[in-house]
This record gives sequence, C-alpha cells and structure tokens, in this order.
Amino acid sequence: MRIFLLYADDASYIFCIPLFFAFRQPCSPGIFMPELPEVETIARTLAPQIADCRISRVSVLHPKVLQAGAERLPELAGARIARVFRRAKLLLLELESAVTAQPLLLAFHLKMTGRFFVHPAGTPPEKHTRLVFDLEEGGRVFFDDMRTFGYCRVMLPRELDQWAFWSSLGPEPLGLPAAELGRILHSAFCGRKAAVKGLLLDQRVVAGVGNIYADESLFRAGISPLLPAGELSATRCLALAGALQEILEQSIRECGSSIRDYRDALGNAGAFQNTFAVYGRKGESCRKCGAALEHARVAGRSTVYCPHCQI
Ligand SMILES: [Zn+2]
Repeated sequence: MRIFLLYADDASYIFCIPLFFAFRQPCSPGIFMPELPEVETIARTLAPQIADCRISRVSVLHPKVLQAGAERLPELAGARIARVFRRAKLLLLELESAVTAQPLLLAFHLKMTGRFFVHPAGTPPEKHTRLVFDLEEGGRVFFDDMRTFGYCRVMLPRELDQWAFWSSLGPEPLGLPAAELGRILHSAFCGRKAAVKGLLLDQRVVAGVGNIYADESLFRAGISPLLPAGELSATRCLALAGALQEILEQSIRECGSSIRDYRDALGNAGAFQNTFAVYGRKGESCRKCGAALEHARVAGRSTVYCPHCQI
C-alpha cells in the first residue's frame, strides 16, 4: 500500500509548488540531460515505492523505447524488484526473476525527458508514457518520455558486462577519496591538449558528469574550462576532484537541478538550480568577483565561466 502514499500525502506536492515557481530559467540552458545527482535522486525516490514489489505485466507502448532485450520481457512476469540503483547517468532495476536463475537487469537512460512515476492500479497511460510495469501489489510504474530519446535495455548480468557503453564507463566520482579521484583525473588528463571541460564530460574519464556539474565544479576549483587538460598539475586536479565531489553531493542533498522537465519519482522539482554559480548565467555578474561571466563552446557544449576567477 505504500505505493499510494504519494497520493495520500499531498505534503510532497505542497512542498514542490514553491520550488517549481522559484525555478529560475537560465538565460542559455542549451540541452539539458539529467546528470548524476538527478538520476541518483530519482533512484532514491523510486526505490521506497517499488523495492520488493513484483512485476505482474509489462506493456511496451512505444517500440523505440526498448533498445535491447525484447525477447526477455516474458521473463519479467513475477520478478521481484530487488534493487533500484544508479550507475553514471543510468537508472537500473535489479530483478529476481521467477524464470531465469540469474538476476535480470533493466537499464534506463533518461536522456532529455525520461521520467518515472508510480500510479495507482488502473491509472491509464498518459500521452508520453512509453513503458508500463504493473505491480502485483497494485501500482503501476510509468516510464514517460516526451522526446523519445530515452531507452530501456533488459539484460542478464553477462549481457550488461558485454554492453560496450557500460563497459566503457569510467569510475564513479563519489564514494572514493578525493585524493584518489584527483589521481584518476591527473592520469586521464596527462599529455592531453583537449580542453579540460571536454574531458570532464567524457564518460570514460569519470561517469555521470554533464554540462551543469562540469561548469560548476570548474568554477569552484578556479579552473578555466578552456585550459588544455594536460596543463593541470596534480594539485589542481586534486582541487577539481574535491570541487566536483562537493558540487555533486550538494546537488543530491537538494534533489538535483530542475531545468525544463526534470522531476524526481515523487513529482518534485530539485532546488540546486537556484544556486548555480555559472551555468546558464552568461553575461551576469560573477558571484565572487563581480566580473561579467563569459560564454564559449567546449566539446560542442555551451560553457559559462568567469575570466577572472577561472585561470
Ligand atoms: Zn569571478
């Protein structure tokens, strides 16, 4: 019955309304995709609603959403949702299948507009609902995606390991000491002429970082996003590692950044966008020195930085 709590407890909506209206649209947001803090927040808000529930039926409402594993859909019936977790920008469900001896893994990439909601039994799909998981306990999990760039893959553990994207992912930036992350960054940057921001966005270097958290962490570390990565000393890589961890942890505490469509699995907006230092603030004053923030394109992505504080 806990599935219905989110409808019975309107406090969550009352809480989300001020956040929604307080949301400050950045002047040049570019393309927004949920990054590590947003996907982590979705996993944390989805888990208490569906963990230990059993799937009774899966409905694929848009064929493009299922990128791999369509043949395994029948094996999902009766499977127990053992774990909801995140790796990089992927949200994963680990299922104990009643059919296969091994666990089944559902990997979702939310891309730009993918969202999860848990509804009461009998709720009809919405316009942008792509996948529906009916639960034996009575709820329905909707995977909605307006732009249809998001996808789901159904895999056995060995198939997950063989997935080229999965196996190419770099280390998670949280859950390890800053010194170790600093060494990882320094090693990845060594000898590289590419701009440091471009490498920070490379999921093979570090997993889960996108445009927002690259810009914000480089500002906090005082590093120009345009600097050739190979010119960063070990000390500055350590500063960047510490800044990145602080920014990601702060954003998770604030339930991520809500740009356009992002909401957590309870329908709430995040709040971290209200404290952006640089992201989306082109031409505005630096919060630290007052200089006008500048804009550049790095690795094809809109980039905002302070020419005085970031060198
Ligand atoms: Zn500044």
